[in-house]
Amino acid sequence: MTGERILIVEDERAVARGLEYGLQADGYQVIWARTGAEALQLARAENPALITLDIRLPDTSGYDVCRALRAEGFHQPVLMLTARDEEVDKVLGLELGADDYVVKPYSLREVTARIRALLRRAYGDLSGQEQNTPLRFGDLEIDPARFSVRRAGETIELTPTEFRVLHHLVSQAGWPVTRTALIEAVWGYDSDIGGERTVDVHIRHLRTKIEDDPANPRYVITVRGVGYRFEG
Ligand code: CA
Repeated sequence: MTGERILIVEDERAVARGLEYGLQADGYQVIWARTGAEALQLARAENPALITLDIRLPDTSGYDVCRALRAEGFHQPVLMLTARDEEVDKVLGLELGADDYVVKPYSLREVTARIRALLRRAYGDLSGQEQNTPLRFGDLEIDPARFSVRRAGETIELTPTEFRVLHHLVSQAGWPVTRTALIEAVWGYDSDIGGERTVDVHIRHLRTKIEDDPANPRYVITVRGVGYRFEG
């Protein structure tokens, strides 16, 4: 996957800019929060695929931000950017639910490599060039490397579009995904696919294939007025 949205939480403009340029060069979309309060606001509003979190922020600490995000059910990867000589802090960061950390001063290359690894681990790689571990939810097994889905051991035939819809919902599991966000993720920004009804048609097909009772779905849940949510 490319074009994932990454939230940089960093109060120093120069540091944030450096990260932003590096990440944009790698094809990521970047949003920036300068304070902990802004970080929480943007995490809720923009649902980024990953957050890089500075420890020392003007209004709070990166630890508190991480703790608050996890408490709210934000499960996407968090990469902590710690200062040198903060061994204890590093451990704390991981205990708080961060996924990885980089010690300052870091090289841009190191950070982007960590980010790629975290995203791959969290969401798989739809290009199929990388090894992927199948994702399991109940009796459902989703294999991003093979574009295949099995339920209770039986292979389910999905179209590539259905697979992408499912994979995107799974990558945001537990969070509502708007139809617009699905269109952008699956068909791209500039596509003209016939609007949001097209999404609903694919969802209906998907449910027929993966749900025991498509009228009362267990995995792909309708979020009224918003879109859909995958329940793992
Ligand atoms: Ca700072």
